[in-house]
Amino acid sequence: MAQIIDGKMISQQIKDELKERVAKLKEEGKEITLAVVQVGKDPASSVYVNNKKKACAYIGINSLSYELEETITEKELLELIYELNDNPVVNGILVQLPLPSHIKEDKIINAINPKKDVDGFHPQNVGSMCIGERGFVSCTPAGVIQLLKRSNISIAGKECVVIGRSNIVGKPMSLLLLQEDATVTIAHSKTKDLKEVTKRADILVVAVGKPKFITKDYLKKGAIVIDVGIHRDENNKLCGDVDYDSVIDEVSAITPVPGGVGPMTIAMLMNNCVESALNI
Ligand code: NAD
Repeated sequence: MAQIIDGKMISQQIKDELKERVAKLKEEGKEITLAVVQVGKDPASSVYVNNKKKACAYIGINSLSYELEETITEKELLELIYELNDNPVVNGILVQLPLPSHIKEDKIINAINPKKDVDGFHPQNVGSMCIGERGFVSCTPAGVIQLLKRSNISIAGKECVVIGRSNIVGKPMSLLLLQEDATVTIAHSKTKDLKEVTKRADILVVAVGKPKFITKDYLKKGAIVIDVGIHRDENNKLCGDVDYDSVIDEVSAITPVPGGVGPMTIAMLMNNCVESALNI
């Protein structure tokens, strides 16, 4: 029987550990404050932002909310970022993506003080991760590593295949697995014979952005499958990039959707917020 990797339970463990750390910091007179910036009223973004604010409240982190009009200019948004960079009360800055098309996301991310970049998207933090130095690590891939470690799944020496090469999931995921001494292959939209590649995987991380894309034909028997995707299927039910029903008898462990990687992203964001107050 496959091990179901319980992201809900593991993320709760992490949040409880952080809650304790925050309480201790408070006793030392240290408050943690996250600035949450949302542009426009995209319903999916509003759900993510609200979940992040709820997690802050649970752990004891203050959140400052900036709900901005869709029509805000890039210059005005940059001015807010500079203001938050200079505000000594603010430890972390989170700008909910995506931004409206008239604002260049790169420009906004690059403007955030790397020491307040709790999403781990600033090039300085990406560079630090690349060379294994201290810095903020992108939350979803960091969450995947925690899921594996806290489920007692060893990574060192394993054949790991990551499908996807995005800056926020695929690339940092591959680097983190490499840091854990895995042998890592990155597959993407131009990979020839994807099945031949994925069948080599002891651990397959799927961040392809296509609902139920991975079926049992892509797997080696006994593989561990981490499903990063999140979609709604034809019945409006949440599903991942992996066809769960097709693979469940082939895998030795798998993350469900919902309740797998998703809750870990927020837990790792909270972890980065706590680190931000410790001045990494
Ligand atoms: P993306 O669209 O930026 O990247 C998808 C990647 O898949 C690309 O690098 C592309 O090369 C690759 N790809 C596309 N078609 C392919 C194919 N046929 N064969 C092989 N590779 C192919 O997506 P992303 O931002 O990396 O997100 C991936 C998924 O993870 C999405 O479903 C997204 O919703 C989800 N996601 C979940 C969380 C979470 O917290 N659970 C966080 C971020 C993203």
